[in-house]
This record gives sequence, C-alpha cells and structure tokens, in this order.
Amino acid sequence: MAEETLFSKIVRREIPAEILYQDDLVTAFKDISPKAPHHILIIPNHLIPTVNDVTAEDEAALGRIFTVAAKLARELGIAEDGYRLMMNCNRHGGQEVYHVHMHLLGGKPLGPMLAV
Ligand code: AMP
Repeated sequence: MAEETLFSKIVRREIPAEILYQDDLVTAFKDISPKAPHHILIIPNHLIPTVNDVTAEDEAALGRIFTVAAKLARELGIAEDGYRLMMNCNRHGGQEVYHVHMHLLGGKPLGPMLAV
C-alpha cells in the first residue's frame, strides 16, 4: 500500500488549499508556489503515486483531469491563448509529490518546453 501524501489531505479538506473544483473523481487546487500567473494542480482523488502505477481502473479519473483542465482554462480566460499541461514522473521527471498530478500552467507565453 503506497503512503499518502499531503494531497490526500487536501482532497479530504483536512489541510487548507485554494480548491477551484472538486467532484467524485478529481480535485483541482492552486499550486502553493506558482510558476506562472495561473498554476493549478489537478489530481485524482484516490492515490496513484506515479504515472508508472496507472492502471485501466484509473482511466475515468485521469480522463476527467483533462475535462477539468479544459473547463478551468476556459473559466480563467486562458483557453484561446493557450496553456501547458504537464505531469512529472519520478526523479528524472522532477516529481516531488508522489500523488499523480497534472500541472495546468498559463497566463503568459511559457517559452520552450524544457529549460536546459
Ligand atoms: P511535482 O514536482 O510535479 O511533484 O510538483 C509538486 C507541486 O506541488 C509543486 O509545484 C509544489 O509547489 C506543489 N505543492 C506542494 N505542496 C503544496 C500544497 N500544500 N498546496 C499546493 N501545492 C503544493
């Protein structure tokens, strides 16, 4: 059994977060250390530690993440200009929190995808 992270506590509203959206499958909240004018994390409510742990049973929640990303982008007024969706996996991907999360970044031109 994988160990819970603080993100499970955010889902259960046991610790504070600026939650923008929540339903039975996913929760979206503002990143505490924003890297762009809009930086939102969208996570499955149940714990999946990394993308390596994804199974077919997770497809509904992971699909919902995209639906919610598109909805939030529209609501934030960044859909037309565009934005970036990003998911980090393990050390080389720069993953810090081991509960799968999609970064939604936007609100300015984001430049090249990778800083090298
Ligand atoms: P990653 O490097 O892909 O694992 O991203 C983890 C993200 O979680 C970082 O962008 C952090 O700023 C963000 N983060 C960590 N703790 C919190 C928190 N309590 N509330 C909101 N975002 C957080």
